[in-house]
Amino acid sequence: MTKKEQSWRRREQFIEDNGIICLQNVSKVYSKGSPAINGITLGIGRGEFVFIVGDSGSGKSTLIKLLLRELTATSGHVFVMGSDLEKLKHRQVPKFRRNLGVVFQDFRLLNDRNVYENVAFAQRIVETPAIEIRRNVPSILAMVGLAGKYKAKTKQLSGGEQQRVALARALVNNPSILLADEPTGNLDPKNSWEIMNLLDEINRNGTTVVVVTHNREIVNSMHKRVVTMKKGVIISDEEGGEYIDED
Ligand code: ADP
Ligand code: MG
Repeated sequence: MTKKEQSWRRREQFIEDNGIICLQNVSKVYSKGSPAINGITLGIGRGEFVFIVGDSGSGKSTLIKLLLRELTATSGHVFVMGSDLEKLKHRQVPKFRRNLGVVFQDFRLLNDRNVYENVAFAQRIVETPAIEIRRNVPSILAMVGLAGKYKAKTKQLSGGEQQRVALARALVNNPSILLADEPTGNLDPKNSWEIMNLLDEINRNGTTVVVVTHNREIVNSMHKRVVTMKKGVIISDEEGGEYIDED
């Protein structure tokens, strides 16, 4: 093997060993100020469920944006599903994102359309045949508990229902990874639990799930891997972890 081939092989091995999401010494500096992320190394295996917690401003959303390729790292490497995101060309980004589902705190639905259309839209942009859309959308809406709400306009729904629509939309293309940035931030405790239980179920069906949250009670009850960030670095990473209190 040439040196270059050896170096490729080492990198491939690192990805294999470190899973579906892999950050190597990643930093992100916005144009002004100190690094939002400062030298993070993190591997997430296929099929894992991981909570990301930490104070406001600790870099959680920046991390999610790096994984989505909404941002690129200032230094270090980000690998997602085997792609080196730095090397991904602009025209390759849509295809890359097909394998990622994303949910945000503020739902981000199309508020002039009904529930069915919001989910079907995600399938149309990836050119799913109409016959499959008619089959997939009802089935995913049933899974999130919205079987009776196809025709409702999203703004007529409660927050919990809106987040279920967002979740259905994120899942309908059957992504390998689901990223959720404070998905329960606008929800009451009952709806928060229902959304987290759905995320858990999705994970048990094989999807890798990464959830940013401030919900201490849920984190402490679910006994998942918990990655804690502070000022752009990971200060703790525990299986069956707990929400760490700031002193
Ligand atoms: P968190 O999601 O944990 O609250 P963020 O990733 O949003 O943290 O932010 C981390 C740091 O980066 C904060 O200091 C924040 O002010 C800064 N930051 C986030 N987005 C931008 C941006 N677009 N431009 C400049 N600074 C930003
Ligand atoms: Mg955030």
